[in-house]
Amino acid sequence: MLSQGFLCFSEFVSSYGIIQFMNNRINFDEALALYDTDFFELGDLADAARQERHGKKTYFNINRHINPTNVCADVCLFCAYSATRKNPNQYTMTHEDILKIVDEIDKNGAKEVHIVSAHNPNVTLDWYLGIFKKIKTQYPHLHVKALTAAEVDFLSRHHGITYDEVLDLMVENGVDSMPGGGAEIFDEGVREKICKGKVTSDQWFEIHRKWHERGKKSNVTMLFGHIESREHRIDHMMRIRELQDITGGFNCFIPLVYQTENNYLNIKEPITANEILKTMAVSRLVLDNVSNLKAYWVTSTVNLALVAQEFGANDLDGTIEKESINSAAGAKSANGVDVKDFTDLIKNSGFIPVERDSVYNEIKVW
Ligand code: SF4
Repeated sequence: MLSQGFLCFSEFVSSYGIIQFMNNRINFDEALALYDTDFFELGDLADAARQERHGKKTYFNINRHINPTNVCADVCLFCAYSATRKNPNQYTMTHEDILKIVDEIDKNGAKEVHIVSAHNPNVTLDWYLGIFKKIKTQYPHLHVKALTAAEVDFLSRHHGITYDEVLDLMVENGVDSMPGGGAEIFDEGVREKICKGKVTSDQWFEIHRKWHERGKKSNVTMLFGHIESREHRIDHMMRIRELQDITGGFNCFIPLVYQTENNYLNIKEPITANEILKTMAVSRLVLDNVSNLKAYWVTSTVNLALVAQEFGANDLDGTIEKESINSAAGAKSANGVDVKDFTDLIKNSGFIPVERDSVYNEIKVW
C-alpha cells in the first residue's frame, strides 16, 4: 500500500511498480495516495490510460439541453436552478413549447435532446412522459436522453408506481438513455447534508441497475468541490466501478464542478483548478471499466476542460446551445458554444475533435 503524503512519480512507481500499477486495480488507499503524487506526473499517468483507449481523439456531440420546469418538491442546498426564494421565477413549459425547441434544434443538426427537470408535483405523469413519445414520433432520428434517477424516484413516490413501472414507461415512450444526474456524492453523511430527502445512493444504483438490465445505457455524475472530502470522491468512484463490473451499462463518468452562486450551501472558496484536474486524473485511473471521462465544460469552463484532455478526459460533452441548471449557479454556459469554435479549440490544443452520437458511435472526424 502506498504511504500517505507527497510522492514523486519515481517514488510512486518504485513503491508500487508501473507494470503492477497499470495491470492491477487501484484500491481505495492507492487512489487516495494518487492525489499526493506530483501533479504533472499524475496527469501523465491518466493521459497514458486515456491514450490507450482513445489516442488523441476527443469526443463531443451536437446536442441541446432542455429543462422543462424549475418547480421542485425537493430542496437540495447546492441547487440554484429550482424556484425558491433565491430564484422566484417559476416556469413550466408546455409540450408545445418543448416541441418548438426540438424542431429548431433538429433543423440545426442536433442528434440528441437531453431533458432534465426539477421534481414538479403540480403536473401529471403524462406531462413528464408524454413529451418523449411526441418527440420520438415526430423526430425518430433524435436520441432522447431523459429523466435522472432522482426524477425516476420522484415519479415513483409521487404517483405511487414502482421503479420498474416508471422505467418501462420510459422505454415505451421513447427514452433511449438516462443522464447521470442525481448522483451528487454517494456518501450518505454528505447526502444528508446537501440533498436530504432526494433519491438515496442505494436507490440511485438500483434504478440504474434496472435500466441497464433492460439493455439500456446511462451516464453517471459526481458533484464535487463543496463539503465533500477526497475520501468521499474515491468512495463515489469505487461504488460506480462495482456496478459497472456487473452491468457494463455506464457510458461515461462526468465529474461536475460545484458552482458557488445563488444556493444555500454558502461555500465561499471555489475548488481550485489544480484539484479539479487531479480529480479528473484520479477518476480516469480508478474507473478502469468506464471508457469515457467527460470534462463537462459547463461547470469547469471551456479552457479548463481543454486542459483536462491532458488529465484523462476524452469527452467535452457538446455544443449544448442553451443550458439553465448550472448557469443559474454562476456557470458561463447559458448559450452554449459554436461548433466551429469548439472544434477549433480542440484541434488547437493538440487533440482530434470527433463528433459522436449519444452512445459513442463516431459520426465525423472534424
Ligand atoms: S437539484 Fe434537482 S431535486 Fe434538488 S432542488 Fe434542484 S431541481 Fe430539485
